[in-house]
Amino acid sequence: LSALNARNLSKRYGGAAGIQAAQNVSLSVAAGETVALLGPSGCGKSTMLRMIAGLEVPDSGTVKVGGRDVTALPPEARHIGLVFQDYALFPHLSVLDNVAYGPRVRGMPRPQAWAQAQDTLELVNLTEFGDRRVTELSGGQAQRVALARALATASPLLLLDEPLSNLDERLRAELRGELRALFARVGAGVLLVTHDQREALALAGRVAVMRAGQIVQQGAARDVFERP
Ligand code: ADP
Ligand code: ADP
Repeated sequence: LSALNARNLSKRYGGAAGIQAAQNVSLSVAAGETVALLGPSGCGKSTMLRMIAGLEVPDSGTVKVGGRDVTALPPEARHIGLVFQDYALFPHLSVLDNVAYGPRVRGMPRPQAWAQAQDTLELVNLTEFGDRRVTELSGGQAQRVALARALATASPLLLLDEPLSNLDERLRAELRGELRALFARVGAGVLLVTHDQREALALAGRVAVMRAGQIVQQGAARDVFERP
C-alpha cells in the first residue's frame, strides 16, 4: 500500500539564470514506512516537501497520496499532516483547538473533532493539556502539540521538516524515542527531512540522499551510513 508516490518532480527558481532546486526527483513511501530525506543545506529537500504538501507548484511531475493523484489539489485537500519549522501553532487557540483545527476546517462537527483531538493528545502524552494556551507550553510540549495536530490529519501521509531541530539535545533524544513508537502506532507513511544522521538512523527504515536537486543514493538506513 502506497502512502506517497511522487514522480519526476522538477522545480526551477529564478528562470534561465536561476537554480534547479529539484530535477526529475521520484520518491515513494509505503504505508507504515518512515523515509528520511537527507543532504546538505540547499540541495532541495524543503522544495521537495513543499511540492508534495502542495505549498509549491512543481514545474512538472505528479504527486499521489494514498494512490490518489493530488497534483492539482490545494494543501488542505491532500490529507497530509505537516510539521514544518515555519508552520507555527495558533497562539490564540487552546491546545485542543489547535489539534482539532484541521478536522474542523474540513467540516467535522466540534464535539467529534474535540473527542478525536483528545485521543491524539493521548498519543503524545499531553492528555492533561487540552485546555492550555500554547503560549504556556515548553518547547518540547509545543513540538508535541504540532505533532498531534499533524497526526490528526495524517492519513495516510505525514511530512516532517526538521521536527526536532529547535530543541535542546536532551529533549531531542527524548522525542526521538517517542516518535519512533508513535509512527509505529499510527501506521501512516512518514517522510522526514533532517540534517541529523542519528535522527535518520533512529527513525527511518529507508534513507534517500539528495545533492544539487537530485537523489544520489537510496537504501536501508544502515547500509547508506555504513558506506565510506
Ligand atoms: P534544503 O531544504 O535542502 O536546504 P531548499 O529546497 O530550501 O534546500 O533549496 C534548494 C535551492 O533552491 C537552494 O539553492 C535555495 O536557495 C533555492 N530556493 C529555495 N526556495 C527558493 C525560493 N522561494 N526562491 C528562490 N530560490 C529558492
Ligand atoms: P531550509 O534550509 O530549512 O530549507 P531556508 O532557510 O533555505 O530553509 O528557506 C526558508 C524559506 O526561504 C523558504 O520558504 C524558502 O522558499 C525561502 N528561500 C530559500 N532560499 C531562497 C532564495 N534563494 N530566494 C528566495 N527565497 C528563498
